[in-house]
Amino acid sequence: SVSIAGRDTEAAARVFSRVLTKSHLKRLVVLGQFNLGFIIARIGADVFILDQHACDEKYNFETLQSTTTLHEQRLIAPKPLELSAMEEVVILEHLPTFKANGFSFRLDPEAGPMERIKLLSLPYSKGIQFGLQDIHELASLLGDSSFCGGVEEGAEGPAPSVRLPKIRAMFASRACRMSIMIGKALTRSQMQKVVANLAEIEQPWNCPHGRPTMRHLVDLSTLRG
Ligand SMILES: [Zn+2]
Repeated sequence: SVSIAGRDTEAAARVFSRVLTKSHLKRLVVLGQFNLGFIIARIGADVFILDQHACDEKYNFETLQSTTTLHEQRLIAPKPLELSAMEEVVILEHLPTFKANGFSFRLDPEAGPMERIKLLSLPYSKGIQFGLQDIHELASLLGDSSFCGGVEEGAEGPAPSVRLPKIRAMFASRACRMSIMIGKALTRSQMQKVVANLAEIEQPWNCPHGRPTMRHLVDLSTLRG
C-alpha cells in the first residue's frame, strides 16, 4: 500500500504542477465552506476545493515527522551490532536521524571495522515493538536516499525526515485523530489557518494515506459571456 500511495502522490503532484506550484498556495483566498467538509478557495479566476480533514492532517503529519523525537529505552549493557561495512558508514553519517528515530549508539573509533558501533538504546512507544532489524531497515532507507542525492531537484526546503515505516504509520494515525474532522463547521479564520498551513509544508498535494488534499474546481474566466 506504500507504493500505491507513492504512485498517487506522484500523479497528484504531476497534475498540480501544471496548474499550481507551492508558491501559488500562498495566494489562495478563502471563499467559504462547502458541505461541512470542504474549503472553497481561489487564486485569480481559478477556484479550488480543499478537503479540510486531509489538508489539516497532512500539516499535522509533517509537523510530527519533523519535530518528534521518539522516547528511548536504555539497554542494560551496550549491545554489539552485526553491521556490514556499508551499514556502519550510513549510521555514522546519519546519527541525528537515528536519534530522532529513537536509536542511540556508543562509538568506539579505536575498535576494528564493523565493531565500532554498539547500541545503547532502542525506541520506545506504546504498542510498537522495536528491534535490531529496525536498525538494518533504517540504514537501508538512508542508504537509498543518499544514493539518489536525498533532495528532489527543484524541491524547496530540507528533505522530508526519514522515518521507519512503522513510525511513519504511527504518526499518520496520530495526525488523523488530531485533525479537523469532516462535518465540522469552520470559521473564516480557521479556514484561513488551514490554507496558510498548506503553503508551509513539504508535500501539500496528498494526505499521509495518499488521497489528494485539493482539486481544481473551475476556471471562472471560461464561464463569462
Ligand atoms: Zn484521516
